[in-house]
Amino acid sequence: MANGKGVEWQFSGNEAAQKASAASLGTYSSKLFALCDPDGKPILPPRNEHPETSLTAEKAVVKAVLCGTGNAYAPSIGLPAAKRAVADYLNRDPLPKPLAADDVFMTVGCRQAIELAVDILAKPGANVLLPKPGYPWDAVRSLYMNLEVRKYDFIREKDYEIDLDSVRAAADKNTFAIFIINPHNPNGNTYSGAHLEQLALLARELGIMVVSDEVFRWTVFGANSFVPMGKFSSIVPVVTLGGISKGWSVPGWRTGWLALHDLDGVFKSTKIASAAKEFLEINSKPATVIQAAIPTMLEETPKHFFDKRQSFLKDKVDFAFSKLKEIPSLTCHFKPEACTFFWTELNLSYYKDITDDEDFCEKLASEENLVLLPGIGFGQENWVRHSIDMETPTLEDAFERLKSFCERHSNIIG
Ligand SMILES: *Cc1c(COP(=O)(O)O)cnc(C)c1O
Repeated sequence: MANGKGVEWQFSGNEAAQKASAASLGTYSSKLFALCDPDGKPILPPRNEHPETSLTAEKAVVKAVLCGTGNAYAPSIGLPAAKRAVADYLNRDPLPKPLAADDVFMTVGCRQAIELAVDILAKPGANVLLPKPGYPWDAVRSLYMNLEVRKYDFIREKDYEIDLDSVRAAADKNTFAIFIINPHNPNGNTYSGAHLEQLALLARELGIMVVSDEVFRWTVFGANSFVPMGKFSSIVPVVTLGGISKGWSVPGWRTGWLALHDLDGVFKSTKIASAAKEFLEINSKPATVIQAAIPTMLEETPKHFFDKRQSFLKDKVDFAFSKLKEIPSLTCHFKPEACTFFWTELNLSYYKDITDDEDFCEKLASEENLVLLPGIGFGQENWVRHSIDMETPTLEDAFERLKSFCERHSNIIG
């Protein structure tokens, strides 16, 4: 019997996530990969190839499986050994007050750490300040939770420092927090300690907390070294978000954390700490087996592993930067000093038949099997983000395709 016939089904799908999901990066990238021709040229970036993780991490997970240390449920706030290890790791940087294991909450990737930060702040009437452009998950979650979002800008001439005037202009008495990303996705820069201190002072003046997404802290290869926001937690309450996805190249392991730098009990008295526990209580947790591997991963992964990865990325950035110079319609205003991509401005006046960044990316995917992400996915129209995390011959292929695509659609006759 065909089950669609003659019955009035009483159910229908909940559409509450419709608007938020449309703004998610995954929605943009799935659409673009679907436009590629599976029988055509190799699809770039290669979807199922991932850089190798460290042997230490692999062995730690295998050991947890064999010893059964990760077979049970973990507490909703995280496995005690993992919380302790994250606190110890973050305490390697000189902080005004060392973190205790209790200040750390384990999450399903850094994404759930972002969700948690949004959820604990999403009270009616409240607003938060988010970067434009920025990794969109905080905006997506805010949309879903009906938390008002206000955007702040960057100063291009100052290597994408945060435009503190725009922060001040956006904030009001209902602002709860400013979210920053450091190193920044997609700008590709790292903030200096002096800049972070200025931000901390401004946040204190405004009476708001700083939520700092530091998931890319292990892929820094420029002149500015990474400084954690927690260093300034004597000035302002800081929430640090992190995870193993990017640093260890294991986004599929879905493990991250949220740490509360609470110097004098502000997070306790404002019920932020209790809200974090309550929200985790009603959410899913990262697999215990990965949490069980976290102490070994954080303590024993050799520095060499990160050095090698950083020099690989630096090499790709240099290569991509020189290739990009051959494409006049795409401008990279800042050579990245961190992360795994380029962020470039698209000059539409060079093209005869491209209407915007989304149109550019869609035509590029269908004609060249090459996926770049449209700026609109990061909240900034007519920019694009290129992955550079590929072996040099593959990267060269990607840039050759990009160049011929741009020439083919150019309005310059010659
Ligand atoms: C990738 C990314 C995340 C998500 O990390 P997961 O651990 O994979 O959930 C969060 N923030 C930024 C800035 C990212 O680039």
